[in-house]
Amino acid sequence: MTTTQVTWDLTELFSSTTDPKINQAIAQATALADAFEKTYRGKIIHLNADGLLACLTEMEKFEAKFIDILLYSSLSFSAVMILPQTQALNDRANKLQVAIGKQLAFYRLELGTLLQSNPKLVEESALHNYQNMLKRVYRGFRHQLSEVEEQLIIEKDQFGIDAWQELQSKWLNTRIFDVTVAGEKKTLSYGEANGLLTHPDRATRESANKSIYGSLGKDGEIFASALRSICNDWVNVSKRRKYSSPMEASLISNDTEQNVIDNLHRTIEKNANVYRSYLKLKAKLMGLPVLGNHDITAPLPSSSEQKFTFQQAQDLVTRAYSRLDPQYAFAAKEMFSKRHIDATPRFGKRNGAFCSSYYNGRSAYILQSFNGSLSDVFTLAHEIGHATHDWYASRSQTLLNLNIPAIVAETASILGELLLTDLLLEEAKTEAERRTVLCLVLDEAGMAAFQVTARVWFEQALYASIQKGEFLDYNTICSHWTAARDRIYGDAVTWFPEMEAEWTMKPHYYMPNYRFYNYPYVYAQMFVYSLYDQYLQEGKKFVPKLKKALSAGSSLAPSEISNIFNLNTSVSNFWNKGIKIFERFIDNLQKTT
Ligand SMILES: [Zn+2]
Repeated sequence: MTTTQVTWDLTELFSSTTDPKINQAIAQATALADAFEKTYRGKIIHLNADGLLACLTEMEKFEAKFIDILLYSSLSFSAVMILPQTQALNDRANKLQVAIGKQLAFYRLELGTLLQSNPKLVEESALHNYQNMLKRVYRGFRHQLSEVEEQLIIEKDQFGIDAWQELQSKWLNTRIFDVTVAGEKKTLSYGEANGLLTHPDRATRESANKSIYGSLGKDGEIFASALRSICNDWVNVSKRRKYSSPMEASLISNDTEQNVIDNLHRTIEKNANVYRSYLKLKAKLMGLPVLGNHDITAPLPSSSEQKFTFQQAQDLVTRAYSRLDPQYAFAAKEMFSKRHIDATPRFGKRNGAFCSSYYNGRSAYILQSFNGSLSDVFTLAHEIGHATHDWYASRSQTLLNLNIPAIVAETASILGELLLTDLLLEEAKTEAERRTVLCLVLDEAGMAAFQVTARVWFEQALYASIQKGEFLDYNTICSHWTAARDRIYGDAVTWFPEMEAEWTMKPHYYMPNYRFYNYPYVYAQMFVYSLYDQYLQEGKKFVPKLKKALSAGSSLAPSEISNIFNLNTSVSNFWNKGIKIFERFIDNLQKTT
């Protein structure tokens, strides 16, 4: 545990939740939105290239002002969610976002209409900076509805379909769980019980799993109601918006194509045996005939409980990044020196970890709950990767080119984890230490590439089920989940019956209007493995390509980003490269035994 508090300094944004500059910023952002509406409503459809350039620049000015407010309110709320003043400010910012979202809904509609009537506009040299952004708007345009319909959707969803999502998270955060921790009976919150799923003691893991998923399963019909409503709503919305499949909206937002993603999942399915061979090796290392579901991401019984101070984690991550190239660690160093990281665990702090980019200050903010485990050090390396990506992109791009699709946004973060892996393996003093690192890496990659693929199949099965006219009650949904899960795990894992409810706790299944959240993680894991392999082969020659890719932000499509590395993700066997790296880690683990 760290003895000193590691909290972030948000004063670059505002000094406190009562800073009078917040009201000023809100007034300025509102004035910019009003001025934008006054200048451009009804006029965008008549703009020439120069006129459109001016319009996009104005939009960026408004957004630059507005994101300060949104960022500060969400960061201060995430740090302490239980304070009335952070809740109030966050609520105020959210309401303002909805109001301005409705006010400016005309902008994308008119922009789309303009591009439809004059597709050549995208090629104009004046608009060169915005070429990819305009292509994305154009691709999404045919799925937009009228301005009033779009406004109605925003209004009705706020207290309609969005409420199912709130219900799911409220359930998780208001229940208590009885767990036997190392022989002692305890009553725990969801966050606390969840933290025991990777406890070193196997009986504790079993108790935590059975308690959490047993309770979730008892209320299974409630979760089924929520998920059924959200999926059926999406089927209706998809029809209205003329999407060819429930996944198309997600493909558009990721700036990618169905065949790329289908090839990816086919490759994962064909190589499920590779993951299973790891799970079988892990069972051997744990002295078990077969892994239980509570062992999949558990630490090895032999693994030394290595603890790290935040200072040690900072040192490891900075050195790992510097080894690629000294300049590549600039962002990491700046994040620590500017105190843009909130790492100390506290009551009322948001669970998990995230990195938020900050365009006007050019250094992102990271939140995590650092408890000193090796896995926490990896989380820091991951989030610093996001900050590094932001660092390069925000210095090279204007604001509208920082809308980085999820399949690309994980590039530097996953690479950061691999850089840390290399350093830790090199500096490990014993085979047991090496084994601990390798298992952690394989556990994480196994989840990201293989288990997450099962989640995609699960979602696809739900929509196929609705299409066939089936009613998605709790048991039906569970059977879709266990079928998808078993396609990956086969005979390599045995499951507690309670685990049929595993789907109920994943928040992203309940995100209305944002379906198929999962596959970008599979894409990113496999894509970054290919980059990593190239880095190992080319060394320093690889570095300028990486910087170019990160600096591109969203000004290039993901396919163009892969071209920088001479990689082609649309070739069906492309994803095998990633599998090879996964296999190499398994071989290395085998060698430590
Ligand atoms: Zn990430």
